[in-house]
Amino acid sequence: MMVDVRLKDITKVFGKVVAVRNMNLEIRDKEFFAILGPSGCGKTTTLRIIAGLEKPTKGRVYFDNQDVTSLPAKFRDVAMVPQFYALYPTTVYNNIALPLRSRGVSKEEVKQRVREVAELLGLTDKLHLHIDKLSIGDKQKVSLARAIVRKPKLYLLDEPLTILDPVTRIIIRSELKSLQKRIKQTIIYVTHDQIEAMSLADRIAVMNMGVIEQVGTPYEIYDKPSSRFVGWFIGEPGMNFLEAEVDKHSSAIKLGSQEILQSKTLVSKLVEKTNNNKVVIGVRPEYIYLEKNPREAGSGYTIVKGVVELIEFTGTHYIVLVGINGREVKVKMNVEDYRRLNIAPREDVYLRIPLDKILFFDPVSEKRVL
Ligand code: ATP
Repeated sequence: MMVDVRLKDITKVFGKVVAVRNMNLEIRDKEFFAILGPSGCGKTTTLRIIAGLEKPTKGRVYFDNQDVTSLPAKFRDVAMVPQFYALYPTTVYNNIALPLRSRGVSKEEVKQRVREVAELLGLTDKLHLHIDKLSIGDKQKVSLARAIVRKPKLYLLDEPLTILDPVTRIIIRSELKSLQKRIKQTIIYVTHDQIEAMSLADRIAVMNMGVIEQVGTPYEIYDKPSSRFVGWFIGEPGMNFLEAEVDKHSSAIKLGSQEILQSKTLVSKLVEKTNNNKVVIGVRPEYIYLEKNPREAGSGYTIVKGVVELIEFTGTHYIVLVGINGREVKVKMNVEDYRRLNIAPREDVYLRIPLDKILFFDPVSEKRVL
């Protein structure tokens, strides 16, 4: 009953729009896999191709090594939970029972399976209620229950939490996580919400403009984004990017007049990989420490001088915008550290950056090189 899904060289064109371009993807059996990306990047199209609701212009789809590219949706044994539920104006029980009844399952078995699934989703007390009496969160649970009751091979969820209010969202999000542990089936989950993807998925594919930019665990994607897009899209706020110069003669990397680090090996690798004397350095806002006074960098760190431009309180953190030789860097600080530092706009500050948290990107291809 398990399934792994493989997409090979998939392209989908709608008229002039290339919705998905040359996609190769492998989703493992029992994995909670998220497809994450901004609106219009091709997530839903990918999901519909897996479901069999859309035929790829090019490429093949495999379930457990069986080519299902031409297999119609109804033979794929896949349950798709849409963004907006479509429920029938009857009781919760009938809504969940319907997919079984239409398959000719015996009355006794219907009863048993509806009860099991209701139990799983905490709907037992609501089975006799009319759908109109439910909250929006419970309606989405019924929609999920209807998918689960069929015991499909594969679940496809298309932004199932989008219609919920923020509080219900968080509750159902954590319920989904424990649900997957219990049903132990492959789930492919489409979302534009990085927190949903990061907190739910075993692995994530980050998509942009019809192309997969990176596939990895939530931490891999956060820690080692393979492109500028991924670094920017993940994180709140996203990664900082600064154009820097690679000076072969002094084996240094410089931000304008400031040397940020010196390393013969690093510089020669960068020169070789970027074919250029320019590189873009990336560093996450939460890895930078601010100091008021100049100090020795100490081993493993670099110090860069800047000027405070703007301070913003997000409710949980402070975001300090610092100008460095015409570039701008965001620094994310917790409230206590910020209060201790006591800084104001136009003051000089020193940014202490751990060297192992600095990543390097090619200025042209925008891919990470080191
Ligand atoms: P969203 O989160 O907004 O749903 P998405 O990432 O799911 O976005 P898709 O819905 O897959 O993106 O759409 C990808 C691109 O393909 C978009 O430019 C969209 O307009 C286009 N597209 C999708 N379906 C069709 C269609 N049936 N006919 C024409 N163009 C389409």
